[in-house]
Amino acid sequence: MQKPSPVTSARPVYVRPEIAALAGYVPGEQPSDPRVVKLNTNENPYPPSAAVRDAISEACARLQLYPDPSGRAVRERVAELYGVDAEGVILGNGSDELLSLLMRAVIAPGDAVAFGSPTYSLYDTLVALQAARSVHAPYGPDYGLPRELQTVDARMILVCNPNAPSGTAVPRRDLEALATARRDTLVVIDEAYADFADENATSMAVQHPNVVVLRTLSKSYSLAGLRVGIGITTPELAAQLNKVKDSYNVSRLAQAGALAALNDQATMQAHVARVRATRLRLVRRLEELAFDVLPSQTNFVLARRPGQVLLPVKEALAARGILVRYFAEIPDALRITVGTDAEIDRLLDELARL
Ligand SMILES: *Cc1c(COP(=O)(O)O)cnc(C)c1O
Repeated sequence: MQKPSPVTSARPVYVRPEIAALAGYVPGEQPSDPRVVKLNTNENPYPPSAAVRDAISEACARLQLYPDPSGRAVRERVAELYGVDAEGVILGNGSDELLSLLMRAVIAPGDAVAFGSPTYSLYDTLVALQAARSVHAPYGPDYGLPRELQTVDARMILVCNPNAPSGTAVPRRDLEALATARRDTLVVIDEAYADFADENATSMAVQHPNVVVLRTLSKSYSLAGLRVGIGITTPELAAQLNKVKDSYNVSRLAQAGALAALNDQATMQAHVARVRATRLRLVRRLEELAFDVLPSQTNFVLARRPGQVLLPVKEALAARGILVRYFAEIPDALRITVGTDAEIDRLLDELARL
């Protein structure tokens, strides 16, 4: 029998035109070789709390049962930690899913969604999926909150704070001013890196009914592989988002692990302190190597050589088993995750040699 010939037509027959036109979000590389020094996707170089493994193991005994659809135990712990109402807390399969839920619940075709630029590129992808419009408000050289956001015509404003890939943070008072000026607009503050920063705006979700704060266990709690994100908002908006989300979006294992991680603040804080100490050393040494480094409030730094295309440097590092992130939109910069001291020493040695 003849094999059917492969479909070669590039014509998108089935999908919506806005999907066919989309390039799709490109996540950083995940190599299978564990010897690679991974400084490209902002993971925590330290392992999660040992209590996470025990809790997940125990939860395995009940895998025949669906998980709690709302993750009540985790939500109540989050509410205690941040001094918020558990009814206003919603869990996601990573905070990426919460961003997606917000878009699906709030943004209709043609609506405008505004955010600073450059920022987390997934925002553009999610807006495009809604057949909506991204409005980019360019950050200035000091990465202060773009003034344009105060007045821009938009149904939703997203602020990644601290911001990726710059690593910079805007003061909480500027976010307060924005939320107050934009009372009728939903303001989403993506605080994926807030535990590495000097201050956060999490409690704004309580004081401002138009504010949603997103947190994640992926970075500071070393649980990128578990996929748990936390949304904090009003009980009213949380109830609306619950209509959009999958009933069982956070698995039984993820809920058990998340609760154990949240119950061990000491481990998370110790790892954050180590990352911050290594960050300081990394920045100083990069500056000695003639890089411009923006002040980082995250677990990564953006190292720039203004005017010099750094793609060859990224590739030379990769050839030596060290991955960092390069963005074609900012060709004179490399985004470097703060790894362990040993990993950062290897990176710095190779950079000095290049
Ligand atoms: C890592 C990251 C997230 C989300 O991570 P999840 O793993 O989906 O929780 C969200 N926003 C920014 C800016 C990030 O860097």
